[in-house]
Amino acid sequence: MTDRALQSLDDLAAAGLADPAEPRLAEVERAFRIRVTPEMVAAAAHPAVARQFVPAVEELSIGAGELSDPIGDVARSPVTGVTHRYRDRVILHVTRTCDVYCRFCFRREVVGGEGMLSDADLAAALDYIERTEAVREVILTGGDPLVLSPRRLQAIVGRLGQIAHLDQLRIHSRVPVVTPQRVDEAMIRALRVPVPVWLVVHVNHEAELGLDSRAALGRLADAGIPLLSQSVLLRGVNDSADALEALFRALLRLRVKPYYLHHCDLARGAGHFRTTIALGRQIMAELRRRLTGIGLPTYVLDIPGGFGKVPVTGDHLVEDGPGRWLVRDPDGRMHPYADPA
Ligand code: SF4
Repeated sequence: MTDRALQSLDDLAAAGLADPAEPRLAEVERAFRIRVTPEMVAAAAHPAVARQFVPAVEELSIGAGELSDPIGDVARSPVTGVTHRYRDRVILHVTRTCDVYCRFCFRREVVGGEGMLSDADLAAALDYIERTEAVREVILTGGDPLVLSPRRLQAIVGRLGQIAHLDQLRIHSRVPVVTPQRVDEAMIRALRVPVPVWLVVHVNHEAELGLDSRAALGRLADAGIPLLSQSVLLRGVNDSADALEALFRALLRLRVKPYYLHHCDLARGAGHFRTTIALGRQIMAELRRRLTGIGLPTYVLDIPGGFGKVPVTGDHLVEDGPGRWLVRDPDGRMHPYADPA
């Protein structure tokens, strides 16, 4: 196993993961950051893992309707670092750094940028949360919050833990899977605060779950941290009932409750990952036949433009012609949505 993260096309080519003879990949590299941890390089022997991290020339094709901020983080940001989309929840973007850069990421044009939220912006963001009493839950995301040092993580989580109107914190992270050695005693100690901390682990295929990742999830579960998972439905990665059944069964064995299956967002240059809504629904129907209720995530769509996340069910999606949908947002307004051509 390589002992450092691969961060360029040259690195990937040297590891046999990218084709050095493909000139257009250099353009992809200029547009979107590359980073693959040693654990994911080892797992990339499986094509479903390689596809998530190795740049592809298809990323140069920007499809109709694709957006640089597909879920409207900026449109719903009252202060730097905070997205306030729903009355009782806010997202706190603590860093723009991740340990890996996923080729389908809906924040791909933001992550890898300026790094950590500055101290002044962090203070203003925490003040906003403290004075907005309607907020009951803070979702720490990024980037990936678990790339922060345990000391900084403790400082942020500890401060949030003192805000009396918060019921829980939720951390979304790919770290336990892609950099499992970060999950050590110091990190776990940092997450011990007076308010419950839920950890949502991002994982898309069973092949990502190596022995070290499984052990890291075990340490978190043993520490009493409730574990959920989020996955993205990705063409060529996990777009079959067989692949997702294997993933969700593996997660249940690791004490992780499958929570969300996201329809792939309209991020620019990610069209080759997107499936149709009809296929997603078909897969979910099959999974419902095969799996226990606790193994079934909710299949959700983030309405492009920042209008919220809704389950992909008849209550929220009405067919409006072949491959065209009308999506009802949480306030009852309808928005058009089209499948990839
Ligand atoms: S924010 Fe999550 S999905 Fe996006 S690049 Fe980072 S780890 Fe991957």
